[in-house]
Amino acid sequence: MAVHPIRLLGDPVLRMKARRVTRIDDSIRALVRDMIESMYAARGVGIAAPQIGVPLRVIVIGLPDEEPFALVNPEIVKREGQRRVEEGCLSIPGYRAMVPRSVTVVARGLDLQGRMVRIKASAKGGERDALLAQALEHEVDHINGTLYIDHLDSLDELVKIGEEAPELEEEKGR
Ligand code: ZN
Repeated sequence: MAVHPIRLLGDPVLRMKARRVTRIDDSIRALVRDMIESMYAARGVGIAAPQIGVPLRVIVIGLPDEEPFALVNPEIVKREGQRRVEEGCLSIPGYRAMVPRSVTVVARGLDLQGRMVRIKASAKGGERDALLAQALEHEVDHINGTLYIDHLDSLDELVKIGEEAPELEEEKGR
């Protein structure tokens, strides 16, 4: 197991459409363990494989005080409603912004035993479910090469939250 550095905005791996996993084997289980360690080391509530440099369709979500779980080849199969929520990303440290997200999402994917699981999460169900819905959309975005800043009208909407926030020159003009 290992903590990997989080890939940052400007790294091309974050912009790739990640490949589907064809077989859930020990290498995928090891990847998930590394993702969990890296996520906690960076104090995130979710992480996608491309964020540690692996362009595969694997995400992990670790809500506060809950066991983390992985979804392989996840997809959002249903979205309902719209809300605006504050969001940040481990790959864009030092910034946050209000982004549009769905009120309710249904996601589907495989667990590490290869069983299909379906997760429904709605902001109507309280804070925990609201965070889960947001995390599912955020992480599934990642494996499609989408970052939350793509949902903003302008990068001017980003709010700096850290002294060390880097300038976002690299992708300006996208
Ligand atoms: Zn992110």
